[in-house]
Amino acid sequence: MIYFDDVVKQFGDNVVLNHLDFSVERGQRVTLIGPSGSGKTTILRLLMTLEKVNEGTIWVAGEPFSHETRRGKLVPASEKYLRQARKRIGMVFQHFNLFPNMTVMENLTEGPIHVLGRDKATAVERGRELLATVGLSDKENAHPSQLSGGQQQRVAIARALAMDPDILLLDEVTSALDPELVVGVLNVLRKIADTTDITMLIVTHEMQFARDVSDRVLMFDKGRILEDGSPDQIFTQPEHDRTRSFLKAVV
Ligand code: ATP
Repeated sequence: MIYFDDVVKQFGDNVVLNHLDFSVERGQRVTLIGPSGSGKTTILRLLMTLEKVNEGTIWVAGEPFSHETRRGKLVPASEKYLRQARKRIGMVFQHFNLFPNMTVMENLTEGPIHVLGRDKATAVERGRELLATVGLSDKENAHPSQLSGGQQQRVAIARALAMDPDILLLDEVTSALDPELVVGVLNVLRKIADTTDITMLIVTHEMQFARDVSDRVLMFDKGRILEDGSPDQIFTQPEHDRTRSFLKAVV
């Protein structure tokens, strides 16, 4: 579903992703862990088309993603191509980024109506299903400011899913929340992982959650993958001292 082929990303002299190669199968739930600055968020930002690769190519669902094909050759993707490509991808950030002047339902239907061209009744029906999934059916007409941080984050998850993405990117979705609100958000994500076959890429410091929800963990260090394995392998029998010391510091 996702394939990073020899990807280099640098900011000035800072090489953040260093000839990175990895692929993620459809339906896999992959958690990216590693020290601050190791490039995890940059991977998500490349997939959100918020950054561009310096070298290499990203593929999604067998099609070039960072590039497009012109006259049989891969060339950097145009804005128009990227707009299409990123419809496959939903993202939830640390800060909820809901539209503050819209109701919850308007937040959920804006993209499906204006980007996907759905009719309003269909978008509202799907919005209601998703609000039930995230346990907020009674908040349809509320504005974001009337919700707790945890509730806003659950709406943000529902909003990402409303676009029917193939891939859901989750970047530290609980780190701005009070501890008692974290559980509700993690439960919603667990439920989505259990009941859909959406491909998930997760950046989190919640190691218990990573363990529960993912079938694969990638440990990053200095823009490369240091270890790639099942949560059990990585959390209980890491191969590298670097992984051991990282886990000791965060758990
Ligand atoms: P954290 O766990 O702290 O979020 P991370 O592993 O997600 O870290 P990234 O956010 O991907 O790391 O950042 C990797 C490196 O890229 C860092 O050194 C960061 O300073 C640098 N970086 C990221 N975005 C930019 C940018 N827009 N301009 C310049 N440097 C950047």
